[in-house]
Amino acid sequence: MNLIKLNLLKFFGIKIKTKKDKISWNEFIQHTDTGNAPHLLSKKDKETLDKANIIRVSGRSVCKYCKKSYSDHGQVKGALWLTRLCDGRLVKL
Ligand SMILES: [Zn+2]
Repeated sequence: MNLIKLNLLKFFGIKIKTKKDKISWNEFIQHTDTGNAPHLLSKKDKETLDKANIIRVSGRSVCKYCKKSYSDHGQVKGALWLTRLCDGRLVKL
């Protein structure tokens, strides 16, 4: 979904489920029991993880961009225990 379409949907107040990472079944089954698959991480996500730049937050916190709870945001490919927020931050719920 491109950005213009996304903004149009927001403009008309149409709720969409935030899911930035599309994880196919084949990719999903490459994750370990703990939700890790380092070879699937994007370069940017790997850098964020290497810096240990992850905070733990409540899944009930409300995103200031889409007004949904953090738990309604998508998982991160390569680290399923992480959640990607609309502003690009990676958090642990
Ligand atoms: Zn959001």
